Amino acid sequence: MADHDYDLFVIGAGSGGVRAARVAAMSGAKVGVAEEHRVGGTCVIRGCVPKKFMVYASEYAKHFETARGYGWEVGETRFDWSRFLVEKDKEIARLSGIYVRNLQNAGAELFHGKARLKDRHVIELEGKGEVTAGKVLVATGGRPWMPRELPGVELAITSNEAFHLPELPKRIVIAGGGYIALEFAGIFNGLGVETTVVHRGPNVLRGFDDDIRAHIAEEMEQAGVRILLGTQHTRLEKTATGILNTFDNGHSCESDVVMFALGREPYTAGLGLENAGVDLAANGAVKVDGFSRSSVDNIWAVGDVTDRINLTPVAIREGEAFARTEFHNTPMSFDHEMVASAVFTQPQIGSVGLSEADARHRHGKVDVYLSKFRPMKETFYGGHQRALIKLVVEQGSERILGCHVVAPDAGEIIQMAAIALKMGVTKPQWDSTCAVHPTLAEELVTMREKYTPPALGQVA
Ligand code: NDP
Repeated sequence: MADHDYDLFVIGAGSGGVRAARVAAMSGAKVGVAEEHRVGGTCVIRGCVPKKFMVYASEYAKHFETARGYGWEVGETRFDWSRFLVEKDKEIARLSGIYVRNLQNAGAELFHGKARLKDRHVIELEGKGEVTAGKVLVATGGRPWMPRELPGVELAITSNEAFHLPELPKRIVIAGGGYIALEFAGIFNGLGVETTVVHRGPNVLRGFDDDIRAHIAEEMEQAGVRILLGTQHTRLEKTATGILNTFDNGHSCESDVVMFALGREPYTAGLGLENAGVDLAANGAVKVDGFSRSSVDNIWAVGDVTDRINLTPVAIREGEAFARTEFHNTPMSFDHEMVASAVFTQPQIGSVGLSEADARHRHGKVDVYLSKFRPMKETFYGGHQRALIKLVVEQGSERILGCHVVAPDAGEIIQMAAIALKMGVTKPQWDSTCAVHPTLAEELVTMREKYTPPALGQVA
């Protein structure tokens, strides 16, 4: 290692790269990090964090309505998009600064600019020449995928631009039925934008439990989002008054902004990985083993660039496991089972473990416990939002295989449920936990009746 400029060179200062660089540097290793955009990566700069601020901002529409129901006189309300953007950008700059300082405090050296591998040890730094490293970590994340062949695609934005729109549109069409499409649909709808989601599938959020998928689509429609299923764009055209969206079902509509949220792709283009002989999957993801090691024995990759579970906390754990293994003599691999996630729709979704369909497929017979209800906060003022709570339990072992919640703060609720599921909790153990009253989450531990779906034609 002494033969190289750095013991470790990290390409990409997002969640995974920064954690790995800091932990490695704390061992006394000489660590370099290159970042071509801003330190913090997708999560901090153009993902989770600014998205959550936008969710908070957009939720006030409902809060004002609820407040009236609870006896408050709420006068005229008005949202100032420009002011919000200034405040949001200030906070993002502050957080990015913390990331920079954390790297520096750990002793890592930060380079601004693109890094490219010339071979397995030599890294070319844009405008700064070459450096060599004993070990290399690729943590470049992902970027929005666009259907480049679609006529008029250049008129559409991605989530990257949605954080900086010069003004709030009156009408937006969002293509896609995944996390990003639905979260932004909730945001724009809450901010008063006429919002349409267009998704090719029969229901949104493929991969989630079917009851959750159906429920969130109903709740979003109830809140005012128009959801068009089973169709997709065939073209976009500029008109005098906006953008004309044409779909493959023959329908069309006009909007001021079109946002595509059709998935993200690993960002490996232009990194020179081929010069080092690193094997990539067909979608460009770096192929890695359980210890995040690539096909080249001194090159590792963590986070979205490996396209395993594309979530910030997963990237952080993968980065940490890599650094502990390679620089602290503590072999660790991250366990990708039972990783919970939240979708910041309105209401939110929190989910951990298997959907009912996946549980039946993998484990055979399962019991389902399901409760769909209007929380007391809603019933008080005649609000319509309904919560849904579902447990999927393996017959015989009674182990809870999946827990799914659609409710305000479902993200907070599922974090706690995830601990129990990760520990292998059984339904009797779960039920022995006393309820916290009066809460929405108490429903989780009070479901005793097995659920049988209503027969076709019956109303649930
Ligand atoms: P997702 O994979 O969640 O969703 C992509 C959507 O686009 C799906 O509905 C998919 O449909 C649709 N789609 C894909 N290709 C096409 C196509 N060629 N034509 C039409 N529709 C298409 O991706 P996102 O971009 O929403 O998010 C990327 C990832 O980022 C997420 O999977 C998640 O891991 C992460 N993320 C996590 C968040 C969180 O934790 N809260 C928030 C935001 C992102 P189909 O289902 O039919 O394939």
